[in-house]
Amino acid sequence: MAFFNQLKNLFSGTPFVTDEDRAVHKIFEYLLGLISGPDMVEQKKRVAKALSARPDGRVRELLRCYFELEQFITSHAPPVVNNVYTEQTLRQNIRERLGSSPRPQLFRLVFMPQAEQQFEIYEMGIKNLSQYLIQQAGAGRLTTLLMNIAHGTQLEQAITKKGIDFSMLQELRRRTSNSIALAQYKQIYLALFSDISTLFGEQKAITQSHLEYEFFKTTYDKNLTAQFLSILPEKVLEVEQLAYMSREELQRKITERTEALSELNGQLEKKVLERTQELKQKVDELSHANQHLLELDQAKTEFISIAAHQLRTPLTALKWVLSLLINEKMSNLTDEQKELLSSGYESNERMINLINEMLIVMRIESGKMLYTPSSFSIVEVIQSVLVSFTGLAHEQHVELMFNKPDTPLPWVTADIEKIRSVLQNLVENALNYSREGGVVTISATPQNEFVEVCVVDQGIGIPINQQVSIFDKFYRADNAASLRPAGSGLGLFVAKNIVENSGGVIAFESAENAGSTFRFTLPCAVSAK
Ligand code: ADP
Repeated sequence: MAFFNQLKNLFSGTPFVTDEDRAVHKIFEYLLGLISGPDMVEQKKRVAKALSARPDGRVRELLRCYFELEQFITSHAPPVVNNVYTEQTLRQNIRERLGSSPRPQLFRLVFMPQAEQQFEIYEMGIKNLSQYLIQQAGAGRLTTLLMNIAHGTQLEQAITKKGIDFSMLQELRRRTSNSIALAQYKQIYLALFSDISTLFGEQKAITQSHLEYEFFKTTYDKNLTAQFLSILPEKVLEVEQLAYMSREELQRKITERTEALSELNGQLEKKVLERTQELKQKVDELSHANQHLLELDQAKTEFISIAAHQLRTPLTALKWVLSLLINEKMSNLTDEQKELLSSGYESNERMINLINEMLIVMRIESGKMLYTPSSFSIVEVIQSVLVSFTGLAHEQHVELMFNKPDTPLPWVTADIEKIRSVLQNLVENALNYSREGGVVTISATPQNEFVEVCVVDQGIGIPINQQVSIFDKFYRADNAASLRPAGSGLGLFVAKNIVENSGGVIAFESAENAGSTFRFTLPCAVSAK
Protein backbone atom coordinates (compact mmCIF):
# COMPACT_ATOMS: atom_id res chain seq x y z
CA MET A 1 0.00 0.00 0.00
CA ALA A 2 1.31 3.42 -0.86
CA PHE A 3 0.63 4.82 2.56
CA PHE A 4 3.06 2.35 4.16
CA ASN A 5 5.83 4.09 2.28
CA GLN A 6 4.36 7.37 3.34
CA LEU A 7 4.33 6.17 6.92
CA LYS A 8 7.92 5.01 6.65
CA ASN A 9 9.00 8.51 5.77
CA LEU A 10 6.97 10.09 8.49
CA PHE A 11 8.08 7.70 11.19
CA SER A 12 11.81 8.03 10.75
CA GLY A 13 13.99 9.76 13.32
CA THR A 14 14.41 9.74 17.09
CA PRO A 15 11.98 8.04 19.51
CA PHE A 16 8.99 9.62 21.18
CA VAL A 17 9.58 12.48 23.51
CA THR A 18 6.22 13.69 24.77
CA ASP A 19 3.05 12.09 26.10
CA GLU A 20 1.25 13.31 23.04
CA ASP A 21 3.69 11.48 20.77
CA ARG A 22 3.17 8.36 22.77
CA ALA A 23 -0.59 8.64 22.37
CA VAL A 24 -0.25 8.86 18.63
CA HIS A 25 2.06 5.92 18.66
CA LYS A 26 -0.54 3.90 20.55
CA ILE A 27 -3.14 4.74 17.97
CA PHE A 28 -1.05 3.53 15.09
CA GLU A 29 0.10 0.50 16.99
CA TYR A 30 -3.47 -0.50 17.45
CA LEU A 31 -4.48 0.11 13.85
CA LEU A 32 -1.46 -1.60 12.36
CA GLY A 33 -2.10 -4.46 14.73
CA LEU A 34 -5.51 -4.88 13.24
CA ILE A 35 -4.05 -5.13 9.79
CA SER A 36 -0.99 -7.33 10.26
CA GLY A 37 -1.32 -9.05 13.57
CA PRO A 38 0.50 -8.35 16.82
CA ASP A 39 3.90 -9.25 15.39
CA MET A 40 4.17 -6.56 12.78
CA VAL A 41 7.28 -5.37 14.48
CA GLU A 42 8.76 -3.41 11.65
CA GLN A 43 5.81 -1.09 11.25
CA LYS A 44 5.61 -0.48 14.94
CA LYS A 45 9.23 0.49 15.05
CA ARG A 46 8.70 2.93 12.26
CA VAL A 47 5.77 4.48 14.07
CA ALA A 48 7.94 4.82 17.10
CA LYS A 49 10.60 6.64 15.21
CA ALA A 50 8.40 8.80 13.11
CA LEU A 51 7.08 11.09 15.76
CA SER A 52 10.39 12.51 16.76
CA ALA A 53 11.01 16.21 16.45
CA ARG A 54 7.85 16.65 14.49
CA PRO A 55 6.83 19.95 13.05
CA ASP A 56 3.07 20.56 13.05
CA GLY A 57 2.75 19.58 9.43
CA ARG A 58 3.84 16.08 10.26
CA VAL A 59 0.98 15.58 12.70
CA ARG A 60 -1.40 16.63 9.99
CA GLU A 61 0.05 14.06 7.66
CA LEU A 62 -0.12 11.43 10.35
CA LEU A 63 -3.73 12.30 10.79
CA ARG A 64 -4.33 11.74 7.11
CA CYS A 65 -2.61 8.37 7.37
CA TYR A 66 -4.86 7.60 10.28
CA PHE A 67 -7.94 8.27 8.19
CA GLU A 68 -6.63 6.09 5.40
CA LEU A 69 -5.98 3.22 7.76
CA GLU A 70 -9.33 3.69 9.38
CA GLN A 71 -11.07 3.67 6.06
CA PHE A 72 -9.18 0.59 4.95
CA ILE A 73 -10.13 -1.32 8.08
CA THR A 74 -13.78 -0.33 8.09
CA SER A 75 -14.32 -1.01 4.43
CA HIS A 76 -12.11 -4.09 3.81
CA ALA A 77 -12.40 -5.96 7.13
CA PRO A 78 -8.88 -7.41 6.76
CA PRO A 79 -8.41 -11.15 7.63
CA VAL A 80 -6.92 -10.58 11.12
CA VAL A 81 -9.91 -8.54 12.05
CA ASN A 82 -12.52 -10.83 13.45
CA ASN A 83 -15.05 -8.13 14.07
CA VAL A 84 -16.47 -5.85 11.50
CA TYR A 85 -15.48 -2.37 12.61
CA THR A 86 -17.28 0.83 12.02
CA GLU A 87 -15.68 4.20 12.40
CA GLN A 88 -17.50 4.61 15.69
CA THR A 89 -16.44 1.30 17.19
CA LEU A 90 -12.88 1.77 16.07
CA ARG A 91 -12.64 5.21 17.59
CA GLN A 92 -14.39 4.02 20.73
CA ASN A 93 -11.75 1.28 21.14
CA ILE A 94 -8.92 3.73 20.64
CA ARG A 95 -10.49 6.16 23.08
CA GLU A 96 -10.56 3.44 25.71
CA ARG A 97 -6.96 2.48 25.10
CA LEU A 98 -5.76 6.05 25.32
CA GLY A 99 -7.63 6.75 28.54
CA SER A 100 -7.00 10.29 29.66
CA SER A 101 -3.53 10.57 28.19
CA PRO A 102 -3.05 13.87 26.35
CA ARG A 103 -3.05 13.73 22.56
CA PRO A 104 -2.02 16.32 19.98
CA GLN A 105 -4.63 18.99 19.36
CA LEU A 106 -5.55 17.72 15.88
CA PHE A 107 -6.12 14.16 17.09
CA ARG A 108 -8.24 15.33 19.99
CA LEU A 109 -11.12 16.28 17.75
CA VAL A 110 -11.17 12.84 16.10
CA PHE A 111 -11.49 10.91 19.33
CA MET A 112 -13.96 13.13 21.07
CA PRO A 113 -17.43 11.77 21.68
CA GLN A 114 -19.68 13.01 18.89
CA ALA A 115 -21.64 15.33 21.14
CA GLU A 116 -18.43 17.16 22.04
CA GLN A 117 -17.13 17.43 18.51
CA GLN A 118 -19.64 20.03 17.48
CA PHE A 119 -18.50 22.31 20.32
CA GLU A 120 -14.88 21.79 19.51
CA ILE A 121 -15.54 22.67 15.88
CA TYR A 122 -17.40 25.80 16.90
CA GLU A 123 -14.53 26.76 19.15
CA MET A 124 -12.07 26.35 16.31
CA GLY A 125 -14.27 28.51 14.08
CA ILE A 126 -14.76 31.13 16.79
CA LYS A 127 -11.00 31.25 17.46
CA ASN A 128 -10.28 31.68 13.79
CA LEU A 129 -12.74 34.56 13.30
CA SER A 130 -11.81 36.23 16.64
CA GLN A 131 -8.14 36.23 15.70
CA TYR A 132 -8.95 37.81 12.39
CA LEU A 133 -11.10 40.48 14.03
CA ILE A 134 -8.40 41.26 16.62
CA GLN A 135 -5.74 41.53 13.91
CA GLN A 136 -7.84 43.78 11.72
CA ALA A 137 -9.84 45.86 14.20
CA GLY A 138 -8.24 45.35 17.61
CA ALA A 139 -9.23 43.41 20.71
CA GLY A 140 -11.50 46.27 21.82
CA ARG A 141 -13.84 45.71 18.93
CA LEU A 142 -14.06 42.01 19.72
CA THR A 143 -14.78 42.56 23.39
CA THR A 144 -17.49 45.11 22.63
CA LEU A 145 -19.12 42.77 20.18
CA LEU A 146 -19.03 39.87 22.63
CA MET A 147 -20.35 41.99 25.46
CA ASN A 148 -23.28 43.01 23.32
CA ILE A 149 -24.21 39.39 22.83
CA ALA A 150 -23.51 38.28 26.37
CA HIS A 151 -24.98 41.28 28.15
CA GLY A 152 -27.04 40.19 31.14
CA THR A 153 -26.33 36.47 30.66
CA GLN A 154 -23.91 34.03 32.21
CA LEU A 155 -21.80 34.27 29.10
CA GLU A 156 -20.44 37.56 30.43
CA GLN A 157 -18.16 35.57 32.72
CA ALA A 158 -16.31 34.07 29.71
CA ILE A 159 -15.43 37.44 28.20
CA THR A 160 -12.12 39.09 28.96
CA LYS A 161 -10.29 42.10 27.58
CA LYS A 162 -8.51 39.81 25.15
CA GLY A 163 -11.62 38.08 23.88
CA ILE A 164 -13.09 34.75 24.94
CA ASP A 165 -11.84 32.68 27.86
CA PHE A 166 -12.47 29.24 26.34
CA SER A 167 -11.93 27.25 29.52
CA MET A 168 -14.62 29.38 31.18
CA LEU A 169 -16.84 28.91 28.17
CA GLN A 170 -16.46 25.14 28.49
CA GLU A 171 -17.19 25.36 32.17
CA LEU A 172 -20.40 27.28 31.44
CA ARG A 173 -21.33 24.77 28.82
CA ARG A 174 -21.13 21.94 31.32
CA ARG A 175 -23.56 23.80 33.56
CA THR A 176 -26.25 24.17 30.90
CA SER A 177 -28.01 21.90 28.41
CA ASN A 178 -26.29 20.98 25.15
CA SER A 179 -28.90 22.59 22.95
CA ILE A 180 -28.75 25.93 24.78
CA ALA A 181 -24.96 25.89 24.75
CA LEU A 182 -24.90 25.05 21.06
CA ALA A 183 -27.27 27.94 20.37
CA GLN A 184 -24.90 30.28 22.24
CA TYR A 185 -21.87 29.05 20.30
CA LYS A 186 -23.74 29.50 17.11
CA GLN A 187 -24.79 32.99 18.10
CA ILE A 188 -21.19 33.97 18.84
CA TYR A 189 -19.92 32.48 15.60
CA LEU A 190 -22.57 34.23 13.48
CA ALA A 191 -22.06 37.54 15.28
CA LEU A 192 -18.35 37.39 14.48
CA PHE A 193 -19.12 36.52 10.89
CA SER A 194 -21.54 39.39 10.45
CA ASP A 195 -19.28 41.89 12.24
CA ILE A 196 -16.43 41.03 9.89
CA SER A 197 -18.88 41.37 6.99
CA THR A 198 -19.97 44.78 8.23
CA LEU A 199 -16.42 46.02 8.76
CA PHE A 200 -14.63 44.55 5.75
CA GLY A 201 -17.36 43.33 3.42
CA GLU A 202 -19.07 39.99 3.31
CA GLN A 203 -16.46 38.61 0.94
CA LYS A 204 -13.76 38.90 3.62
CA ALA A 205 -15.84 36.93 6.11
CA ILE A 206 -16.55 34.31 3.49
CA THR A 207 -12.83 34.08 2.65
CA GLN A 208 -11.98 33.49 6.31
CA SER A 209 -14.50 30.69 6.54
CA HIS A 210 -13.20 29.32 3.27
CA LEU A 211 -9.66 29.16 4.61
CA GLU A 212 -10.84 27.21 7.59
CA TYR A 213 -12.90 24.98 5.40
CA GLU A 214 -9.79 24.25 3.31
CA PHE A 215 -7.94 23.37 6.50
CA PHE A 216 -10.70 20.95 7.54
CA LYS A 217 -10.90 19.42 4.10
CA THR A 218 -7.17 18.73 3.94
CA THR A 219 -6.85 17.63 7.58
CA TYR A 220 -9.94 15.67 8.52
CA ASP A 221 -12.28 13.13 7.01
CA LYS A 222 -15.56 13.81 5.31
CA ASN A 223 -17.68 13.50 8.44
CA LEU A 224 -15.78 16.10 10.39
CA THR A 225 -15.60 18.38 7.38
CA ALA A 226 -19.34 18.04 6.98
CA GLN A 227 -19.79 18.92 10.64
CA PHE A 228 -17.68 22.01 10.16
CA LEU A 229 -19.71 23.00 7.14
CA SER A 230 -22.90 22.67 9.14
CA ILE A 231 -21.87 25.56 11.40
CA LEU A 232 -21.36 27.99 8.54
CA PRO A 233 -23.98 30.57 7.62
CA GLU A 234 -26.24 29.18 4.94
CA LYS A 235 -25.07 31.38 2.10
CA VAL A 236 -21.44 30.31 2.49
CA LEU A 237 -20.29 27.21 0.70
CA GLU A 238 -23.72 25.85 0.02
CA VAL A 239 -22.34 23.77 -2.80
CA GLU A 240 -19.56 22.36 -0.66
CA GLN A 241 -22.02 21.59 2.08
CA LEU A 242 -23.90 19.37 -0.29
CA ALA A 243 -20.73 17.75 -1.57
CA TYR A 244 -19.61 16.91 1.96
CA MET A 245 -22.85 15.81 3.46
CA SER A 246 -22.99 12.15 4.26
CA ARG A 247 -24.96 9.91 1.99
CA GLU A 248 -27.70 9.46 4.61
CA GLU A 249 -27.94 13.16 5.20
CA LEU A 250 -28.20 13.80 1.50
CA GLN A 251 -30.79 11.08 1.17
CA ARG A 252 -32.72 12.64 4.03
CA LYS A 253 -32.48 16.12 2.49
CA ILE A 254 -33.64 14.78 -0.85
CA THR A 255 -36.54 12.93 0.76
CA GLU A 256 -37.47 16.06 2.68
CA ARG A 257 -37.31 18.15 -0.46
CA THR A 258 -39.24 15.58 -2.46
CA GLU A 259 -41.94 15.43 0.19
CA ALA A 260 -42.10 19.20 0.37
CA LEU A 261 -42.25 19.38 -3.41
CA SER A 262 -44.94 16.78 -3.75
CA GLU A 263 -46.97 18.53 -1.09
CA LEU A 264 -46.47 21.78 -2.94
CA ASN A 265 -47.41 20.06 -6.14
CA GLY A 266 -50.58 18.75 -4.53
CA GLN A 267 -51.46 22.23 -3.31
CA LEU A 268 -50.69 23.62 -6.71
CA GLU A 269 -52.87 21.10 -8.49
CA LYS A 270 -55.70 21.88 -6.10
CA LYS A 271 -55.24 25.60 -6.72
CA VAL A 272 -55.15 25.10 -10.49
CA LEU A 273 -58.31 23.02 -10.29
CA GLU A 274 -60.04 25.65 -8.18
CA ARG A 275 -58.89 28.40 -10.48
CA THR A 276 -59.97 26.48 -13.57
CA GLN A 277 -63.42 26.06 -12.08
CA GLU A 278 -63.54 29.73 -11.14
CA LEU A 279 -62.46 30.64 -14.64
CA LYS A 280 -65.02 28.36 -16.20
CA GLN A 281 -67.69 29.95 -14.07
CA LYS A 282 -66.46 33.43 -15.03
CA VAL A 283 -66.42 32.48 -18.72
CA ASP A 284 -69.99 31.17 -18.40
CA GLU A 285 -71.05 34.37 -16.67
CA LEU A 286 -69.31 36.47 -19.30
CA SER A 287 -70.82 34.61 -22.20
CA HIS A 288 -74.23 34.97 -20.57
CA ALA A 289 -73.63 38.68 -20.11
CA ASN A 290 -72.39 38.91 -23.67
CA GLN A 291 -75.46 37.13 -24.98
CA HIS A 292 -77.63 39.49 -22.95
CA LEU A 293 -75.76 42.51 -24.33
CA LEU A 294 -76.10 41.24 -27.88
CA GLU A 295 -79.82 40.87 -27.36
CA LEU A 296 -80.05 44.36 -25.88
CA ASP A 297 -78.00 45.74 -28.75
CA GLN A 298 -80.26 44.04 -31.22
CA ALA A 299 -83.32 45.45 -29.43
CA LYS A 300 -81.74 48.91 -29.40
CA THR A 301 -80.95 48.74 -33.13
CA GLU A 302 -84.48 47.65 -33.91
CA PHE A 303 -85.92 50.38 -31.70
CA ILE A 304 -83.81 53.12 -33.28
CA SER A 305 -84.50 51.82 -36.73
CA ILE A 306 -88.24 51.74 -36.14
CA ALA A 307 -88.18 55.13 -34.40
CA ALA A 308 -86.16 56.64 -37.24
CA HIS A 309 -88.54 55.29 -39.85
CA GLN A 310 -91.53 56.52 -37.88
CA LEU A 311 -89.94 59.96 -37.52
CA ARG A 312 -89.14 60.16 -41.17
CA THR A 313 -92.77 59.83 -42.25
CA PRO A 314 -94.12 62.99 -40.51
CA LEU A 315 -90.94 64.88 -41.41
CA THR A 316 -91.43 64.05 -45.06
CA ALA A 317 -95.06 65.19 -44.81
CA LEU A 318 -93.89 68.43 -43.20
CA LYS A 319 -91.33 68.89 -45.97
CA TRP A 320 -94.08 68.53 -48.54
CA VAL A 321 -96.33 71.06 -46.78
CA LEU A 322 -93.49 73.53 -46.32
CA SER A 323 -92.34 73.34 -49.93
CA LEU A 324 -95.91 73.77 -51.08
CA LEU A 325 -96.22 76.89 -48.96
CA ILE A 326 -92.90 78.25 -50.11
CA ASN A 327 -93.39 77.55 -53.80
CA GLU A 328 -97.06 78.35 -54.33
CA LYS A 329 -98.36 80.62 -51.60
CA MET A 330 -95.39 82.94 -51.41
CA SER A 331 -97.26 86.00 -52.73
CA ASN A 332 -99.56 86.22 -49.71
CA LEU A 333 -96.73 86.19 -47.18
CA THR A 334 -94.65 88.92 -45.62
CA ASP A 335 -90.85 88.81 -45.97
CA GLU A 336 -90.47 87.83 -42.33
CA GLN A 337 -92.92 84.96 -42.76
CA LYS A 338 -91.10 83.82 -45.90
CA GLU A 339 -87.78 83.76 -44.04
CA LEU A 340 -89.27 81.79 -41.17
CA LEU A 341 -90.74 79.26 -43.58
CA SER A 342 -87.40 78.84 -45.35
CA SER A 343 -85.50 78.27 -42.16
CA GLY A 344 -88.19 75.79 -41.04
CA TYR A 345 -87.75 73.98 -44.32
CA GLU A 346 -83.95 73.81 -43.91
CA SER A 347 -84.21 72.52 -40.35
CA ASN A 348 -86.63 69.88 -41.51
CA GLU A 349 -84.21 68.92 -44.30
CA ARG A 350 -81.37 68.57 -41.83
CA MET A 351 -83.48 66.36 -39.61
CA ILE A 352 -84.39 64.12 -42.53
CA ASN A 353 -80.72 63.90 -43.55
CA LEU A 354 -79.66 63.08 -40.03
CA ILE A 355 -82.23 60.33 -39.76
CA ASN A 356 -81.16 58.93 -43.12
CA GLU A 357 -77.54 58.90 -42.01
CA MET A 358 -78.46 57.22 -38.75
CA LEU A 359 -80.35 54.54 -40.62
CA ILE A 360 -77.29 53.94 -42.79
CA VAL A 361 -75.05 53.67 -39.72
CA MET A 362 -77.52 51.17 -38.20
CA ARG A 363 -77.37 49.13 -41.36
CA ILE A 364 -73.57 49.22 -41.46
CA GLU A 365 -73.28 48.16 -37.85
CA SER A 366 -75.75 45.34 -38.11
CA GLY A 367 -74.06 44.13 -41.30
CA LYS A 368 -77.27 44.65 -43.24
CA MET A 369 -75.94 47.15 -45.74
CA LEU A 370 -76.69 45.74 -49.19
CA TYR A 371 -74.37 46.43 -52.12
CA THR A 372 -75.47 46.19 -55.71
CA PRO A 373 -72.29 46.54 -57.75
CA SER A 374 -72.24 47.54 -61.41
CA SER A 375 -69.68 49.00 -63.81
CA PHE A 376 -69.92 52.69 -64.48
CA SER A 377 -67.98 55.77 -65.47
CA ILE A 378 -66.83 57.66 -62.39
CA VAL A 379 -66.44 60.78 -64.53
CA GLU A 380 -70.17 60.83 -65.14
CA VAL A 381 -70.92 60.42 -61.46
CA ILE A 382 -68.54 63.28 -60.61
CA GLN A 383 -70.15 65.53 -63.18
CA SER A 384 -73.67 64.86 -61.93
CA VAL A 385 -72.61 65.44 -58.32
CA LEU A 386 -70.95 68.72 -59.37
CA VAL A 387 -74.12 69.90 -60.99
CA SER A 388 -76.09 69.19 -57.82
CA PHE A 389 -73.67 71.31 -55.77
CA THR A 390 -73.55 74.35 -58.04
CA GLY A 391 -76.10 76.12 -55.86
CA LEU A 392 -74.25 75.51 -52.60
CA ALA A 393 -70.91 76.52 -54.14
CA HIS A 394 -72.48 79.74 -55.30
CA GLU A 395 -73.95 80.39 -51.86
CA GLN A 396 -70.60 79.80 -50.19
CA HIS A 397 -68.73 81.90 -52.75
CA VAL A 398 -66.51 78.98 -53.51
CA GLU A 399 -65.38 77.95 -56.96
CA LEU A 400 -66.09 74.31 -57.74
CA MET A 401 -63.87 72.79 -60.46
CA PHE A 402 -63.43 69.46 -62.13
CA ASN A 403 -60.04 68.58 -63.67
CA LYS A 404 -61.47 66.27 -66.22
CA PRO A 405 -58.85 63.79 -67.47
CA ASP A 406 -57.76 64.23 -71.11
CA THR A 407 -57.97 60.54 -71.92
CA PRO A 408 -61.00 58.43 -71.03
CA LEU A 409 -60.74 56.70 -67.66
CA PRO A 410 -61.44 53.02 -67.19
CA TRP A 411 -64.82 52.25 -65.68
CA VAL A 412 -65.04 51.15 -62.09
CA THR A 413 -67.09 48.49 -60.38
CA ALA A 414 -69.07 49.41 -57.25
CA ASP A 415 -72.55 50.25 -55.99
CA ILE A 416 -73.07 53.47 -57.95
CA GLU A 417 -75.58 55.07 -55.59
CA LYS A 418 -73.38 54.49 -52.58
CA ILE A 419 -70.33 55.89 -54.38
CA ARG A 420 -72.41 58.89 -55.33
CA SER A 421 -73.21 59.46 -51.65
CA VAL A 422 -69.48 59.19 -50.76
CA LEU A 423 -68.61 61.80 -53.35
CA GLN A 424 -71.50 64.01 -52.25
CA ASN A 425 -70.23 63.87 -48.68
CA LEU A 426 -66.65 64.77 -49.64
CA VAL A 427 -67.70 67.63 -51.90
CA GLU A 428 -70.21 68.93 -49.37
CA ASN A 429 -67.53 68.88 -46.65
CA ALA A 430 -65.04 70.63 -48.95
CA LEU A 431 -67.57 73.38 -49.63
CA ASN A 432 -68.79 73.64 -46.06
CA TYR A 433 -65.30 73.87 -44.60
CA SER A 434 -63.95 76.29 -47.25
CA ARG A 435 -63.61 80.01 -46.83
CA GLU A 436 -65.17 82.57 -49.12
CA GLY A 437 -63.22 82.88 -52.35
CA GLY A 438 -61.75 79.40 -51.98
CA VAL A 439 -61.53 76.78 -54.71
CA VAL A 440 -62.58 73.14 -54.51
CA THR A 441 -61.01 70.95 -57.15
CA ILE A 442 -62.05 67.44 -58.06
CA SER A 443 -59.91 65.13 -60.12
CA ALA A 444 -59.89 61.49 -61.17
CA THR A 445 -56.80 59.58 -62.27
CA PRO A 446 -55.97 55.97 -63.09
CA GLN A 447 -53.76 54.16 -60.55
CA ASN A 448 -52.81 50.69 -61.77
CA GLU A 449 -55.95 48.57 -61.29
CA PHE A 450 -57.76 51.42 -59.61
CA VAL A 451 -59.14 54.87 -60.26
CA GLU A 452 -58.39 57.50 -57.68
CA VAL A 453 -60.78 60.37 -56.98
CA CYS A 454 -59.44 63.46 -55.23
CA VAL A 455 -61.35 66.35 -53.60
CA VAL A 456 -59.04 69.23 -52.74
CA ASP A 457 -60.05 72.36 -50.85
CA GLN A 458 -58.31 75.42 -49.44
CA GLY A 459 -60.41 75.59 -46.30
CA ILE A 460 -59.96 75.42 -42.54
CA GLY A 461 -58.16 72.06 -42.57
CA ILE A 462 -58.04 69.50 -39.75
CA PRO A 463 -55.82 70.03 -36.68
CA ILE A 464 -53.04 67.42 -36.65
CA ASN A 465 -53.86 66.14 -33.15
CA GLN A 466 -57.47 65.38 -34.12
CA GLN A 467 -56.77 63.61 -37.38
CA VAL A 468 -56.65 60.06 -35.92
CA SER A 469 -60.33 60.16 -34.99
CA ILE A 470 -61.67 61.77 -38.11
CA PHE A 471 -63.32 58.59 -39.47
CA ASP A 472 -64.91 57.76 -36.09
CA LYS A 473 -68.65 57.83 -35.73
CA PHE A 474 -69.95 61.26 -34.56
CA TYR A 475 -66.40 62.71 -34.41
CA ARG A 476 -66.01 66.34 -35.38
CA ALA A 477 -62.88 68.48 -35.16
CA ASP A 478 -63.13 71.58 -32.95
CA ASN A 479 -62.61 74.10 -35.74
CA ALA A 480 -65.32 72.46 -37.89
CA ALA A 481 -67.79 72.24 -35.02
CA SER A 482 -67.46 75.93 -34.24
CA LEU A 483 -67.69 76.95 -37.91
CA ARG A 484 -70.74 74.76 -38.62
CA PRO A 485 -72.50 73.56 -35.49
CA ALA A 486 -75.05 71.60 -37.51
CA GLY A 487 -72.79 68.73 -38.74
CA SER A 488 -73.41 65.18 -37.62
CA GLY A 489 -69.94 63.62 -37.76
CA LEU A 490 -71.38 60.57 -39.53
CA GLY A 491 -70.54 61.24 -43.19
CA LEU A 492 -66.89 60.14 -43.17
CA PHE A 493 -67.66 57.05 -41.07
CA VAL A 494 -70.18 55.96 -43.69
CA ALA A 495 -67.87 56.92 -46.58
CA LYS A 496 -65.00 54.84 -45.21
CA ASN A 497 -67.26 51.84 -44.81
CA ILE A 498 -68.61 52.11 -48.31
CA VAL A 499 -65.20 52.61 -49.95
CA GLU A 500 -63.61 49.73 -48.06
CA ASN A 501 -66.55 47.46 -48.79
CA SER A 502 -66.12 48.32 -52.46
CA GLY A 503 -62.49 47.13 -52.41
CA GLY A 504 -60.90 50.57 -52.23
CA VAL A 505 -59.20 52.77 -49.66
CA ILE A 506 -59.90 56.26 -48.38
CA ALA A 507 -57.31 58.68 -46.95
CA PHE A 508 -56.62 62.36 -46.47
CA GLU A 509 -53.89 64.90 -45.95
CA SER A 510 -54.60 68.10 -44.08
CA ALA A 511 -53.27 70.74 -41.74
CA GLU A 512 -55.15 73.40 -39.87
CA ASN A 513 -55.83 76.46 -42.06
CA ALA A 514 -53.98 74.87 -44.97
CA GLY A 515 -56.82 73.05 -46.71
CA SER A 516 -57.54 69.34 -47.04
CA THR A 517 -57.22 66.66 -49.68
CA PHE A 518 -59.52 63.66 -49.44
CA ARG A 519 -58.88 60.77 -51.85
CA PHE A 520 -60.40 57.37 -52.40
CA THR A 521 -59.83 54.57 -54.84
CA LEU A 522 -62.18 52.15 -56.57
CA PRO A 523 -61.28 48.98 -58.45
CA CYS A 524 -61.45 49.16 -62.25
CA ALA A 525 -64.13 47.09 -63.94
CA VAL A 526 -62.66 43.89 -65.40
CA SER A 527 -64.39 44.31 -68.78
CA ALA A 528 -62.95 47.79 -69.20
CA LYS A 529 -59.38 46.53 -69.46
P1 ADP B 1 -69.69 66.39 -40.57
O1 ADP B 1 -69.10 67.05 -41.79
O2 ADP B 1 -71.15 66.27 -40.64
O3 ADP B 1 -69.20 66.96 -39.31
P2 ADP B 1 -68.13 64.14 -41.46
O4 ADP B 1 -68.11 62.74 -40.96
O5 ADP B 1 -68.39 64.30 -42.91
O6 ADP B 1 -69.18 64.87 -40.58
O7 ADP B 1 -66.77 64.80 -41.11
C1 ADP B 1 -66.24 64.60 -39.85
C2 ADP B 1 -65.33 65.72 -39.46
O8 ADP B 1 -64.20 65.72 -40.32
C3 ADP B 1 -65.88 67.11 -39.69
O9 ADP B 1 -66.69 67.51 -38.60
C4 ADP B 1 -64.64 67.95 -39.79
O10 ADP B 1 -64.11 68.18 -38.51
C5 ADP B 1 -63.70 67.04 -40.53
N1 ADP B 1 -63.68 67.31 -41.99
C6 ADP B 1 -64.16 66.51 -42.96
N2 ADP B 1 -63.92 67.04 -44.17
C7 ADP B 1 -63.23 68.18 -43.94
C8 ADP B 1 -62.68 69.18 -44.80
N3 ADP B 1 -62.78 69.12 -46.14
N4 ADP B 1 -62.05 70.23 -44.23
C9 ADP B 1 -61.92 70.31 -42.88
N5 ADP B 1 -62.43 69.39 -42.02
C10 ADP B 1 -63.07 68.34 -42.55
